[in-house]
Amino acid sequence: MLQCKNIVKEYYSGDEIVHAVNGLSVTFRDNEFVSILGPSGCGKTTFLNIIGGLDQYTSGDLIINGKSTKEYTDKDWDTYRNHRIGFIFQSYNLIMHQSVLKNVEMSLTLSGVPKEERKKRAIAALEKVGLKDQINKKPTQMSGGQMQRVAIARALVNDPEIVLADEPTGALDSETSVQIMELLKEIARDRLVIMVTHNPELAERYSTRIVRLKDGKMISDSMPVKEVKEEAKEQKLKRPSMSFWTALSLSFNNLMTKKGRTLLTSFAGSIGIIGIGLIMSLSNGVQDYITRVENDTMADYPIELKDNTMDMSVMMSAMMDMQDETEASEMEDGKITTSKMVESILDSISSSKTNNLAEFKKYLESDQGDEFTSTAKAIEYSYGMDMTVFNSNSDYGLVRVSPNELIDKLGFSQMGQVQSAFGVSSPMNQEIWTQ
Ligand code: ADP
Ligand code: MG
Repeated sequence: MLQCKNIVKEYYSGDEIVHAVNGLSVTFRDNEFVSILGPSGCGKTTFLNIIGGLDQYTSGDLIINGKSTKEYTDKDWDTYRNHRIGFIFQSYNLIMHQSVLKNVEMSLTLSGVPKEERKKRAIAALEKVGLKDQINKKPTQMSGGQMQRVAIARALVNDPEIVLADEPTGALDSETSVQIMELLKEIARDRLVIMVTHNPELAERYSTRIVRLKDGKMISDSMPVKEVKEEAKEQKLKRPSMSFWTALSLSFNNLMTKKGRTLLTSFAGSIGIIGIGLIMSLSNGVQDYITRVENDTMADYPIELKDNTMDMSVMMSAMMDMQDETEASEMEDGKITTSKMVESILDSISSSKTNNLAEFKKYLESDQGDEFTSTAKAIEYSYGMDMTVFNSNSDYGLVRVSPNELIDKLGFSQMGQVQSAFGVSSPMNQEIWTQ
């Protein structure tokens, strides 16, 4: 039993409110063939959509089998649409690139019926509408009447309690319309069929009850339901669901129907991904190269570690302070001040530090020291000890080899760095070439 109580549906178009359905109360029996008649725009489609759960009413109530739908959740509506309602549209609403069989099977897919069962039931429904030999055709290869039959088969395949048809013959010639009406009459034998039509003749001839609407209101009902027995008949229905594999195969089929687009999209997508990959590898390579150049460049500059070091900045600031003090003392009238110059410099010298070079050498020679030795070109250890070495075997008699006499004569004797620049190393130094 389907009961509509004072149903109102408002649409907002701009600032204006359109009352598509304006207070409709009507009760339908479980088994009858109702035609809804009325001029265009009087709210027939809107009303049918509300009954079918495709649209929500603004106010009023729709009572299904004694239960109000006011508290229906989205899942309840899904179950209702999938198991209790079959829809037939004027424009068929078929999926044009799928076969007739697939179109009919589709509504079972949503109901979670296994594949074999789906096919069996779809073929049975197509047989009922006289299309058993056309199941592999595509809707595009069919006439309007045949397409509407497919749509009817699709509506019937779930064996719904209610079949809703919105101007099912609206796009068909009169001969085909009669065939479709015969089919609907047959269907209405054991269920409720509500059909919207603008054709009063067909309505009179085939339906058992005619409801006329005007401006969203009912103006006549040929066979109203007198009293309503309020009994709640709760039926347990399976919730609509789709298996993972069904969803996957449907998506795959869908992709395959638009091969060109799928291919182009994948191609464009891969260009993007490959592009990012290329840029990443290029930047990685350039970064590596920069690091290598930095290492090579730095390796050309010698770094000298001495056992004693002095913080030059402390000495500098000590001297700056002294200067400041002298300037300040000049300001004072006729007085002589002292400046602790020597003390400050001594202070800064005493802040010199000692490096533990013996430990550092051990570290360099250990495995951990590889980090240094692998980037350095050469390491030279000098021991702060200069022995005077002579060569007696030369053509000129006794020649002083170390410290080199030439360097001495040029006046560079104190500058170790200049000596090594000339390639003259003290024989007392230990040199290790790493590269
Ligand atoms: P019928 O099917 O009887 O021709 P409809 O139910 O389609 O009439 O429409 C009833 C009224 O509601 C019309 O005036 C229409 O313009 C309006 N209407 C229908 N749907 C909408 C909508 N989505 N938005 C705004 N107005 C709508
Ligand atoms: Mg309409």
